[in-house]
Amino acid sequence: MSSKADSALKAVINASELVTAHALKPKTGEALSDLGIIKNGAVVYQGDSIVDVGTTEEMLQKYQPSSLIDAGGRVVMPGFVDPHTHLVHMGSRHEEYECKIAGKSYADLHKIGGIRYTVAMTRAGTEEELFVKAMGDLDTMLIYGTTTVEAKSGYGLSKESELKLLRVASRLNKKHPIDVVSTFLGAHTVPEEFKDNKAGYVKLVHEMLVEAAPLAEFCDVWCDALGFTVDECREILADAKKLGLKLKLHVEQTGWTGGGELAGEVGAVSADHLDFLSAGGITSMRSGGVVGILLPGVTYHLMEFKKEIAVKAMIDGGMAVALATDYNPGTCRTQSMQAILETACRLYRMTYAQAINAATINAAFALERGDSVGSLAAGKRADIVIFNCTEHGVMINNFGINHVRTVIKNGAVVVDDGRLSRVN
Ligand SMILES: [Zn+2]
Repeated sequence: MSSKADSALKAVINASELVTAHALKPKTGEALSDLGIIKNGAVVYQGDSIVDVGTTEEMLQKYQPSSLIDAGGRVVMPGFVDPHTHLVHMGSRHEEYECKIAGKSYADLHKIGGIRYTVAMTRAGTEEELFVKAMGDLDTMLIYGTTTVEAKSGYGLSKESELKLLRVASRLNKKHPIDVVSTFLGAHTVPEEFKDNKAGYVKLVHEMLVEAAPLAEFCDVWCDALGFTVDECREILADAKKLGLKLKLHVEQTGWTGGGELAGEVGAVSADHLDFLSAGGITSMRSGGVVGILLPGVTYHLMEFKKEIAVKAMIDGGMAVALATDYNPGTCRTQSMQAILETACRLYRMTYAQAINAATINAAFALERGDSVGSLAAGKRADIVIFNCTEHGVMINNFGINHVRTVIKNGAVVVDDGRLSRVN
């Protein structure tokens, strides 16, 4: 730590529940229900790192922090990790959504606009316009308690535009308090100009990978009847792996294609959506150590409850599950992880504890950051949220409002009394 202020010991004390959510590997089965709560807890931190956690009494006996934040009997948790978003884009599709309310399906909308509409808007946007819009979205995420977020490209679908989106994500990571993890999603959909030449576009994705790889940490593909086949995805992911990228997949969203099985086979870090995941997919993902990212906001927003999503079978089957917003203009327009927890408990019947673990420690593992964020423990980043409630379940039961009071990111207060307190 360079400055004097940074080297000072600080602490958040008097948490009615200090939800540590700590684990050394993704929580599965019974462990997913254990939040590691310390009653009347405190967290001591120095600079951007946590030094210790325990009861307030223990921590104040052991340390003499020079600055204290009194949680005043409220819930304190790790910042949310949102491991699946399409953060960088232009335009809104709220008008298209009204057509959907009137009865059109996602597949119908995909034909008349959908992703391609956002692609046209995003290609037309300058880097500065994309940056300013995404900064505003990140501010909203921060106010709602998110401190780490993944951001995919995939609305450019040309070499120039995809690289533009990755450069914007990298600038966001440097400029905004939220950590932004970058993913290349060239294989999001086939752009208009390749609509009669899918093979030509797949070839272009392979070519784009070379220049995208230095700007991204992950490579993602949309493995779906509306996107790319299992074989196309396998080849793109194999190339990505050779270039040093870690792997993610969108799978089994609009129907079963075998993407869950592929995720286990290729050793992906995560496979996301999972609405139509098969029993074989659960086995493959569990044995491959793949975290399944559930996106209940999409299920809710698209209003297509064709089938009960097998979340219980995934958890009982020993698969690790995480939660994310999938924030994007078409299929899930919310920046709020609190909204996602509320939806997961109602639509998927996850318990409060399962949802919170899935949105913190397991979400961190879904980005290969389980050793640095997602829980409150010594050595981890001081990403701490104080909620305006005395029990964690209230945050999910009392839905549709923002319960966040204070957000501490890397040891600095960035949201105070529900408002942004940082200076850009
Ligand atoms: Zn997505």
